[in-house]
Amino acid sequence: MARDTSPQCKQCRREGQKLFLKGERCFTDKCGVERRSYPPGEHGRGRLRQSEYRLQLREKQKTRRYYQVLEKQFRAYYEKASRQDGVTGENLLRLLESRFDNVLVRLGFAASRRQARQLITHGHWMINGRRVDIPSYQVRPEDIISIKAGSGATETIQRATELVSTVPAWLQADHDALTAKVLRLPERSEISAPVQEQLIVELYSK
Ligand code: SF4
Repeated sequence: MARDTSPQCKQCRREGQKLFLKGERCFTDKCGVERRSYPPGEHGRGRLRQSEYRLQLREKQKTRRYYQVLEKQFRAYYEKASRQDGVTGENLLRLLESRFDNVLVRLGFAASRRQARQLITHGHWMINGRRVDIPSYQVRPEDIISIKAGSGATETIQRATELVSTVPAWLQADHDALTAKVLRLPERSEISAPVQEQLIVELYSK
């Protein structure tokens, strides 16, 4: 499974904001953005020329990094979103938000998307009673998510639940039993990703 292996704190610093890629560390003063709020690299502190294209490109890169999706896959999400009814940008975000790895983070069952992917690919989670080991699996309304019986990751997952205070209204979680239900797909207002999706649509529409 291909994934972006570049240092995660550098990815946040490049985008100039916290993308919460490292789990517990992101909530401490060891956070890379808190310590060095300028972009990485030799010219990180220099002045950047802003252009419309640059803004659009950075928004797309930031969204990709936030959801930990590679370029080719991200483009495929956009193509799918543009074929769906409704607003393309919102469709795109809904598709990304409904990925199984993201859903585990929203439920509080993983501290980061990277950890969620690892738990999924190692077979710790089931959907509707069947093991699902594909992080990009798109959840659907009425899906029941549960931990595999005898999973050795219970302690890790329970520690992750301590990092979330609220679960979005489109999901329902039981942090004691480590089970959850997808009530419906999210509305745009329920997606907390720091994204201006219109900029991505403008970039890809060129
Ligand atoms: Fe980003 Fe987390 Fe690193 Fe902070 S600690 S820079 S939020 S990955």
